[in-house]
Amino acid sequence: MKARQPLQQETATPSSDDRYLAVTHEVFNQPPALEDYNLFEQDKALQEAVAREGAAAATSDLKQFGAFAGAADTIALGFHANENKPAFNTHDRFGHRTDQVDFHPAYHQLMSTAMENGLHSSPWTNPGAGAHVARTAKYYMHSQIEAAHCCPITMTFAAVPSIRKQPELAAVWENKILANSYDPRNLPDSEKQSVTIGMAMTEKQGGSDVRANTTRAYAIGAEGPGQAYELVGHKWFVSAPMCDAFLVLAQTRSGLSCFLMPRWRPDGSKNPWQIQRLKNKMGNVANASSEAELRGALAWMMGEEGRGVPTIIEMVAMTRFDCMIGSSAGMRQALAQASHHCRHRSAFGGRLSEQPLMQNVLADLALESEAALAYTMRIAKSLDSQHLEHERLLARLATPVGKYWICKRTPNHAYEAMECIGGSGVMEDCIMPRLLRESPVNAIWEGSGNVQCLDTLRALQKEPDTLDAFFSEAAEARGADARFDRFLAQLQNDFADISDFEYRARNLVDRLALLMQSSLLLRNSDPAVADAFCASRLEHNGGLNYGNLPSGTDPAAIIKRATPVVG
Ligand SMILES: Cc1cc2nc3c(=O)[nH]c(=O)nc-3n(C[C@H](O)[C@H](O)[C@H](O)COP(=O)(O)OP(=O)(O)OC[C@H]3O[C@@H](n4cnc5c(N)ncnc54)[C@H](O)[C@@H]3O)c2cc1C
Repeated sequence: MKARQPLQQETATPSSDDRYLAVTHEVFNQPPALEDYNLFEQDKALQEAVAREGAAAATSDLKQFGAFAGAADTIALGFHANENKPAFNTHDRFGHRTDQVDFHPAYHQLMSTAMENGLHSSPWTNPGAGAHVARTAKYYMHSQIEAAHCCPITMTFAAVPSIRKQPELAAVWENKILANSYDPRNLPDSEKQSVTIGMAMTEKQGGSDVRANTTRAYAIGAEGPGQAYELVGHKWFVSAPMCDAFLVLAQTRSGLSCFLMPRWRPDGSKNPWQIQRLKNKMGNVANASSEAELRGALAWMMGEEGRGVPTIIEMVAMTRFDCMIGSSAGMRQALAQASHHCRHRSAFGGRLSEQPLMQNVLADLALESEAALAYTMRIAKSLDSQHLEHERLLARLATPVGKYWICKRTPNHAYEAMECIGGSGVMEDCIMPRLLRESPVNAIWEGSGNVQCLDTLRALQKEPDTLDAFFSEAAEARGADARFDRFLAQLQNDFADISDFEYRARNLVDRLALLMQSSLLLRNSDPAVADAFCASRLEHNGGLNYGNLPSGTDPAAIIKRATPVVG
C-alpha cells in the first residue's frame, strides 16, 4: 500500500508514525472533567454558612458526604438516571392492574443514598440546633448530583408535620416514613419497613386554586378526622407515583379536606387509584410525574374536615423551603461548572477567568449563588428555632419571599453559566443542559411566582408582625453600607401603604429578597462579595443581565472564593 503523501499546507512536522496513523490533532485547551472533588471542601460559602447557622458539629460528616457527591461514579449516576426515563406499565403480563413505574438502577441508587443519609428524616428524628442546617447542606450537595429524584425525598420529608396532625395515622406511618432506608418494591406498606410519601392536590381545572378541586370523598362509616373514606376523582399532577401513600385533597360536605391515601389497601388488595399516563416533561425527567384517577380509593381523613388546605399547608411550606435549597444547589453547580471551565480555558491569548468581561460575568453569577445559599441557610436556622417567636415570624414571611426569588433567579443563571462554557455547554454529555431544563420547575410547582407573592401578602395581612421580624433581622446590617441603609429606608417607606400590594407585589417581594440577601452578605461574607452585591443589586444596575458589576468591584476575589480547584 502506498503511504499517504503530506498535503502542501501541513506545516507541522508530524512523526512518521503520526503520518501513518493519520493523526489529525492533539486535544488541548480543554478543562479536565469537574469530578473527583469534594463538594463541601471546595465550597467556602457553604462551609461558612454551616458553621454560622449552627451546624458546625456536622462538619466532618459533611466533608465525607462532599467527597462522595463529587466522585466520578456518583456524578455518573445523575447522567444514567436522566438518560433512561421512567417507564410505565398499567398491568402485568397476566392482566392484573399493577400501576408499575420502572426506573433505571441509578435512580434507585440515588434514592437509597438520600434516604440512608436521612435527607427525608434527620431534622425530625434528631431535632434541635443545627438539624435543619445540616440537612440543608447535605441536600444542597446531593441535589447537585441529580435534582429530579429529590422530589420524592422532599415530599416524604415534608409530609411529617402534616401527618402528625392526625396522631393515630402518625402512629401507623411515622416510623416507616422516618426509617433511613429505601424500599422501592410495589408491595403493601404492611410488608415494608420504610415508605415514601407523595402529594396529590392539583386537578385540571385548578392547581394554584385548589378550592376548585372536584374530587369527592365519601365516608365509608363514621365521618370526621381519622375516619375512612373513598375518593372519586382525577388528579392532573401526581409526582413520584410509586410512593407508598399520598396526601390528597378532596371535597366533603364541609369543603376541601385532606386525606392519607395508601397505595395498597390493608387487606392486601390494590387501592383503586390508577395512573393514566406519565407526563412528558421537559425537565425533571428522572422523576416520574403522572395523571391519575381515583376510583373509590381508600383514604383516611387527616386534620379537621373542611380544613384541608391548613392541614396540607405545613407540608407545602416544607416543600417550598426545599425548592429554595434545590434552586440554590442548581446555581452552585452551574457556577462550579462555569468557573472551572474558564479557569482552564484560554482564548485570545489569556485564560477566560482572567479576562475582564468574563470576570464580570463569573463574579456576578457567584454573587447570585452565594446570596441564594446564605438566604436558604438562614431560613434553615429559623426552622431549627421555631420555638422562638422571632424565628417563627421570620420563617413565615421569608419562605414565600425566598421561594419566589431564588427559584425565579435560577433559569437565567443556568443559561448564563452554560454560555460561559460555550458550545460544549450545550451538549448532553455536559450537565448544563440538565441544569437548564431543571431550572424552571422549582419556580412553577409548589406555588408559582405570583402565588408566592400573594402568600407573602397573606402573611402580612394575617400576621403583620412578620414584616417587623423580617425588617429587624435585615436591619442588623444597618450602618455597614450606605447603599444598604438607603435601600432599607426606602423599602420600609414603600411598605407604609400596602393597599395596592397585589399589583406591586413582585416589585416589593423582589426588594425584600434583595434586602435580606445583602444584609446576610454584609454581615457574614467576604467584603468583596458584599460590596459587589450592594453595588450591583441595590443601586441602579439591578435587574440587568449578568455581567453588570460596576467598576471598582473586585471580581478576582469573588471568583477565587467561588471556584473549585480541580486539575
Ligand atoms: C413537574 C411537575 C410536577 C408536579 N407534581 C405535582 C404533584 O406531585 N402534586 C401536585 O399536587 N401538583 C404537582 N404539580 C402541579 C403544580 O403544583 C401546579 O402546576 C402549580 O401549582 C400551578 O398550578 P396550575 O398548573 O394549575 O397553574 P394555574 O394555577 O392555572 O396558574 C397559572 C399561572 O397563573 C398564576 N396565578 C394563579 N393565580 C393567580 C392570581 N390570583 N394572581 C396572579 N397570578 C395567578 C400562577 O402563578 C401561574 O403562573 C406539578 C407540576 C409540575 C410542573
